[in-house]
Amino acid sequence: MAHTQFVNEPKSFVADAIRGLTACTDDLAWHADPGYLTRRTPPEPGTVAVLSGGGSGHEPMHAGFIGRGMLAGACPGLVFTSPNALQIDVATRAVDAGAGVVHVVKNYTGDVLNFRIAADLAGERDIAVEHVLVADDVASDKGTDEAGEAVGPGMRGTAATIAVEKICGASAERGDDLATVAALGRRVADGARSMAVALRPCTLPGAGEPSFDLPEGQIEIGIGIHGERGTERRDAMPARELVRLLADRVLDALRPADGDRLIVVVNGLGATHPLELHLLFGELHDHLTHRGLIVERSLVGSFTTALDMAGASITLIRCDDEILELWDAPTDAPAWPNAPSRRALAPGATGPSSDGGIMPGDATGPGRPDGRPAGRNAVGEWLGAWARRVIDEEPALTRLDRQAGDGDFGTNMVAALGRLDLDALRTASSPSQAFAAVSDAYLGHAGGTSGALFGVWFRRLGGAAAKSGTEDLSVADLARGARSGLDAITALGGARVGDKTMIDALDPAVRALEAGVGNEASPAAVLSSAAEAAAQGAESTEGITARRGRASYIGEAARGVIDPGALVMAWLFEEASRAA
Ligand code: ADP
Ligand code: MG
Repeated sequence: MAHTQFVNEPKSFVADAIRGLTACTDDLAWHADPGYLTRRTPPEPGTVAVLSGGGSGHEPMHAGFIGRGMLAGACPGLVFTSPNALQIDVATRAVDAGAGVVHVVKNYTGDVLNFRIAADLAGERDIAVEHVLVADDVASDKGTDEAGEAVGPGMRGTAATIAVEKICGASAERGDDLATVAALGRRVADGARSMAVALRPCTLPGAGEPSFDLPEGQIEIGIGIHGERGTERRDAMPARELVRLLADRVLDALRPADGDRLIVVVNGLGATHPLELHLLFGELHDHLTHRGLIVERSLVGSFTTALDMAGASITLIRCDDEILELWDAPTDAPAWPNAPSRRALAPGATGPSSDGGIMPGDATGPGRPDGRPAGRNAVGEWLGAWARRVIDEEPALTRLDRQAGDGDFGTNMVAALGRLDLDALRTASSPSQAFAAVSDAYLGHAGGTSGALFGVWFRRLGGAAAKSGTEDLSVADLARGARSGLDAITALGGARVGDKTMIDALDPAVRALEAGVGNEASPAAVLSSAAEAAAQGAESTEGITARRGRASYIGEAARGVIDPGALVMAWLFEEASRAA
């Protein structure tokens, strides 16, 4: 069995999950026979109860939306399987507080049939039931026949369901009667349309493989929430294009007029990160406002999932003042976001920021701040050649850090060095200026351990160069600066030779520089021996496990991988020797 989920036994998967859910939720009770959830708090006599249900695998819908101001109860089926009529019948009786029950039903044949049978059974006991059908997924729209009836089973019910549950729940909570609660629910359902895309299929608990094959680099558009294939397969595309594609299909179905007001739901399908969902919302907001629509409220998160599917759906819901008031009404349902959403603010500008900070930007760096005419600068040439090499080798550095760390080392290097204007660096006014530019790039634009340590290293080299007070950097200056940089890195990071860090390259290189200064060898010879020592030191990291940095978390697995920080330091000395 492929272990892509936490499972004891596939057949007890849902029951085992509900066990944990009820244990950690105050106002939630599980009635195992025949299987339904209600609030623990008894319903307020004389108020309408809202009941929903459906196959499991879409959590937090529906169980997470049980609470004051939303659902009175829910009937979970097995994964992707509708509940049975008996569950719904008993639950209907349990939640009825004398004013009737609204069933919120997603449009799938099994759900529709079982809820209808349960409503008939309830009627025999004089419990009034109204049925609100949610059918919002435009990808499953097969149109209507001559009689105006939907062809086939009609559109699937997906993420619009939570909006219907919210509005009906708030309406019931404020004391509306059964017909009013149901009418509001239908108004929301009729004015809501959705469309989804999957980047990766889901896997049913216990199934050995995903519900369908999706080749690398492809995405599945028009996906439902039960692991079935979508309507269209495409090559992956930038999020902005994808959002427009989905939104335009939804807008074609909804046909809003200029100035129409919308509630917008960006919903994760189970394995999509919040950062991605927020990114999608930003794009969607831009697109909708560009089309002259007003985004009155937003809901961004994973609410209606398809097990562990990676992907997202967008839902647009027409709204008016009454619907907004009910949307904004408080609820205790644990899965409803507590932070109130008001009319969405315009997102900031898109794309990488150009004002510094941690976002990568274009390579505009320091020029010549003193405005003197540009001339060649050996240190600048050296640093420029090294930076070019590091940038070009980014994929290899990333690979090394991925094998023995967390994979961000290459990105970090490029975040800093990509900021430098290499031409300006080559003609920097002095060695200390050139070092300072590289240091600033690291401290201002890179992150991680390497950003800090490289930043300090170059700062110390720059400090030594500035002290010498000349336009040229002597080997003695370099040795002094390197020693000072090494001391600073050791003081900050606490690493010693043999810990599989950049120290393994730096320590022998610094000692080679100092020895060269002592025996008055030629600068070229000293730099060459430093380069040789650094290269050997970097190579030595391949055979050892790490005691510092993130590579230290993986123990033996880091053996056989050269430390990228040490490698990049070795290149620095190699380029120095070449430049000399
Ligand atoms: P992280 O992902 O751990 O924040 P980076 O990927 O930015 O760090 O940098 C990793 C490199 O930093 C390693 O290749 C290693 O050379 C160096 N490094 C990590 N910890 C230390 C330390 N304590 N002292 C010196 N260098 C270190
Ligand atoms: Mg790293």
